[in-house]
Amino acid sequence: MSRDISQYIKILSDWDVSNKSLVELPFDKNSVNKVVCPYCSRHEFSDIKEGLTELCPVCTYAVRKLALDIKVSKFKELWLIHCMKPKVNYIFWVLRDYVNREGDVEKILRDSIIDENGFLAQSYTDKQLQFYRLKIFEYFLRCYNSKGAYLAIKGSGLSGFTWINLLNLRLLGSIMFGTCFIVSVPDLWRYANSQSLLFHFVMAAIFSLLTFGYFSLEIYKTTGEVMVHRAREITLRGLLYALLLSAPVSLFIGQPYMNNSQEANSLKLTWFVAFASLLIGIFIQVIWEEKNVTEAL
Ligand SMILES: [Zn+2]
Repeated sequence: MSRDISQYIKILSDWDVSNKSLVELPFDKNSVNKVVCPYCSRHEFSDIKEGLTELCPVCTYAVRKLALDIKVSKFKELWLIHCMKPKVNYIFWVLRDYVNREGDVEKILRDSIIDENGFLAQSYTDKQLQFYRLKIFEYFLRCYNSKGAYLAIKGSGLSGFTWINLLNLRLLGSIMFGTCFIVSVPDLWRYANSQSLLFHFVMAAIFSLLTFGYFSLEIYKTTGEVMVHRAREITLRGLLYALLLSAPVSLFIGQPYMNNSQEANSLKLTWFVAFASLLIGIFIQVIWEEKNVTEAL
């Protein structure tokens, strides 16, 4: 991906296709008189089908141009599907200066699915539209875009089971795993209980920074952008879940876990268990699952 793609992107952005049924890339022909992509040497551009993930950045940009600027119907659907594939994250990263991936998905959602005059809304049944809404919902959850996710299923008639995914249940589940892990190590409780307040503040700062860093990285991987507000929002939600879980757990098993001479400090223990559960939970999730913690169940 080291070659400069900007010159090809420039040619493509000036490209206008007059005959929409005969799509030819605006590049030179090869020795057998076929138009080829100068980046990947693909020809027969109109044969691009759903499920094709090996598009090069230049071909990807061409599909976008056909879908959104030239408005060739079949490419619009293709572009939507392509935008939502996790496998092509790196292509969108290469194209980050030219393509707003999330913005495109939201545009197609608004103009073609929600809008009753939109292309997809007109040619598809409600059930098919629900399928696309659900896919977009899942994609936005993966991008930590809760507003977009809400928009995708608003008025869709999708069941309550879909809606509860807005609460990031996978995140809650991860934190529960984290709490279970900590509950299984009584020594950790005695150690935390005997530490100073300063220790607990430093530990909380380090653990929440690591959590925030992980979320920031996941968001960057999917969107190609640094989005501090989204990472902050999901970190705070995680902390809220963790505190709600750790408070009763610490109250019930804090004292029984102590030595005879030790008195449990519920506040310290709640604090410690919450931050540690969040970090350990996310760590377990990363190891066991391909999906990130905000994705639908
Ligand atoms: Zn290409």
